[in-house]
Amino acid sequence: MNSLSVPERESIDDIRRKIINKEIDILSLTEEHLKLAESTNEKINSFITILKEEATKQAKELQKVLEQNPNKANSMRLFGVPFTVKDLYLVKSTRTTFASKLMEDFISPYTATVVQKCLDEGAILIGKTNCDPWGFGASGENSGFGPTRHPLDFNKTPGGSSSGSAASLLSGVGYFSLGTDTGGSVRLPASFCGLFGYKPTYGRNSRYGVEAMGSSFDTPGFFARYIDDIVLLEEIMQGKDLNDATTSETKDLKINRKPIIGVPREFFVDGIDPQVDKVIKEKMQEIKQKGFEIVDVSIPSTKYALPVYYVLVPSEISSNRARYDGVRFGKKVSNDYSENLVKSRSIYLEPEVKRRIMIGTFALSAGYSDQYYNQASRVRTKLKKEFDAVFQKVDLLVSPVSPTTAFDLGEKSKDPVQMYLVDIYTVTANLVGIPAISFPIGKNNYGMPIGMQIMAPKWADMVMLNFVKSIL
Ligand code: GLN
Repeated sequence: MNSLSVPERESIDDIRRKIINKEIDILSLTEEHLKLAESTNEKINSFITILKEEATKQAKELQKVLEQNPNKANSMRLFGVPFTVKDLYLVKSTRTTFASKLMEDFISPYTATVVQKCLDEGAILIGKTNCDPWGFGASGENSGFGPTRHPLDFNKTPGGSSSGSAASLLSGVGYFSLGTDTGGSVRLPASFCGLFGYKPTYGRNSRYGVEAMGSSFDTPGFFARYIDDIVLLEEIMQGKDLNDATTSETKDLKINRKPIIGVPREFFVDGIDPQVDKVIKEKMQEIKQKGFEIVDVSIPSTKYALPVYYVLVPSEISSNRARYDGVRFGKKVSNDYSENLVKSRSIYLEPEVKRRIMIGTFALSAGYSDQYYNQASRVRTKLKKEFDAVFQKVDLLVSPVSPTTAFDLGEKSKDPVQMYLVDIYTVTANLVGIPAISFPIGKNNYGMPIGMQIMAPKWADMVMLNFVKSIL
């Protein structure tokens, strides 16, 4: 079996302290991570662009700060810490492809808010990671730049769409990675790779400078190796942004009791891999033994979540794609406007991207929108109400992240419906805008990681993260 050896890494705060105390040299650390990015990339295709020059320059600048103004260095919460971002985030003056051939040569005019926040805290950007094009997929296999391989078994997917973020972090590059989560693209790869993957409450982290997939679903989330890293990163990332009207001041919901944990019946139906089921049940037993009350709850409309997601998200996808017409953005292949419009996208868009645009255009078209888009929107509202009702009774919800562990490359890519079914447990949180996290709880007999999902009411992100911390 082809695999990479996975190095042990310290937490973000530990590495930062070593840098500040000059036990580790910033430039050497950056070079180590750049080299590892290059060597692992050859095997697992986790990067689209490695920012060697930029990262080295940044490291040298930070080195100066440490020499000349150690107090300033000490106040920066990610000082000298290498990180990576999914290639759906704009980073000024760097190539940003959205993992689609149509945008292969696009250079970002500005930097996404959440990336800027990390840079302002002194984090060093090592590279832009591979993913499904525009975020469309669950295995990374739709990428215009080829699939990413799982570091623990090259025949498997690391999960998608943020495939390169999870795979590069697992292979030892950087201390955290930004992904995006529209229907599970952070949580699924986190589960497949044994990492922590967090999706914030919708509107908590700015989407400014992040490629728009389904604007009412998209959340900038991230991966880390430790829960404390997730908490630290969210403290940095959160907050109102004047450039994203859907953000608001963070209002951290508090609860004054030991959280009551709900087990939504509809999330534990047939079709879960027996080993995944066993590890989850064992973990639930452990949670109970820690003195948490666990109660059975029902969210009946959960059964419609996947079809509703796959009507609404493609609808938003198709309207968001209008700007990539080969004139404003995208590749120009003809001087004739109409010809260019058709050809540019016909040649350069990946098959899954075309499929989503077609589904969405159909669902929104006159004569069909009542049956599809409007009906699905109504079910989305119903689902929100059911979640509100359940959160009157319990504080958090527990579920699997995925019915299986990492599957083989090629296993589902020929059948889009099989691939869509992978998202069955993750899309619901995006439909209702609530926070959710995937965290590692064990492995199957084959050594593949298994994750568990916790969901919380809107703005109870910190309650959820603290709960996870208490049950590790
Ligand atoms: N797998 C889901 C989809 O293809 C989720 C994608 C995402 O979260 N970006 O729509």
